[in-house]
Amino acid sequence: MYHLHNFRKPRAAAVITLYASKPAPILACPFQVILLQAQSTPGRQKNHVIQKGTKTVPSGRSHNMEKPVIRNRAVFPMKKSITFVLPLMLLLIFSCGCRLAVGSPSKFTIIAVENFLADIAQNIAGDRLTVGPLIPYGIEPHEFEPTPRDMITVSNSDLLIVNGGGLEGWLESGLNTVGGSRIVITASAGLASRSGGGGSAPAETDPHFWLNPVLVRTYVSNILGGLIQLDPEGESVYRRNADSYIAALDKLDQWIEIRVAQVPADQRILITNHESLGYFADRYGFTILGSIFPGVSPDAQPTASQLVNLIDKIRTSGTRAIFLDTGTNPQMADQIAQETGCSVITGLYTHSLTPPGGVASTYLDMMRYDVNLLVDALL
Ligand SMILES: [Zn+2]
Repeated sequence: MYHLHNFRKPRAAAVITLYASKPAPILACPFQVILLQAQSTPGRQKNHVIQKGTKTVPSGRSHNMEKPVIRNRAVFPMKKSITFVLPLMLLLIFSCGCRLAVGSPSKFTIIAVENFLADIAQNIAGDRLTVGPLIPYGIEPHEFEPTPRDMITVSNSDLLIVNGGGLEGWLESGLNTVGGSRIVITASAGLASRSGGGGSAPAETDPHFWLNPVLVRTYVSNILGGLIQLDPEGESVYRRNADSYIAALDKLDQWIEIRVAQVPADQRILITNHESLGYFADRYGFTILGSIFPGVSPDAQPTASQLVNLIDKIRTSGTRAIFLDTGTNPQMADQIAQETGCSVITGLYTHSLTPPGGVASTYLDMMRYDVNLLVDALL
């Protein structure tokens, strides 16, 4: 029995209010920049606006003023407003010499864009440094739209870890305008993109390297280099931690091979909502039959002929299941399943971990959870 997590895509809507008053807990400035935004995970509810006159600390608690009036209205669509909102915010913040706290007690601020990257990096950093994720749990990185606060977090980072491979296209332009200086590490640097295999993906870089744990060894190596560059005194600690984590990756790889071997080779067929499991398929002998969204990102809508082609392939192959990431609208997959008689399996965790305590709260747990889901459905 699987369930669908109805994660929402973030839609930024923010109101910035300036108060010449006493310092706030987070911004120790003469001016408080109060950024009111819908928080996610699951709570970045979209289009919430708190009207002028309401004073709210960034944690969302109200301060002895009139209650927030929340109404639905898009005020600042991010992509259109960031051009003028962000420079204003950065000017205010840096001109008053203050710095946002991001919850890290360590002397350096380390941000990994995706939460699975943060988990991998934290394993290497160990107890010496703290790594925080930028994208909240359950949010799709392909279509992530950063809030001004997200970009301030980036601007305050000493080390920024990105996946690369085109996954964070939204960040590339932002990094050119954000203030501060930092080390930027691309975790997938040095890995060659697959060509799309037998699936429906056109020729474009496939960023989903992390779904093959053997390739994550390269992530570990790149992240290790970034940590040593940031904090040379901790090199021996980071190297020791990296060795331990690589051993855990090797153990995971061996476990996956054994688990997958239970599925007859001719039943190792994968159909997903977008083509995210290519590197996984290459490593463990699966065939990517196709995907509902034809490509390595969920941007491209399928044409009618592509859907007909996919239905034909499913009927011919006799494959048993379509696998959907958490948060995916199952409507199109359900229609295909009705046409072909295959099952729709929701609940793959591929682009985000679950919050702590969930079934996939670490990268290693996420992979084990997904492999069990795939194998059980294909047996
Ligand atoms: Zn993807």
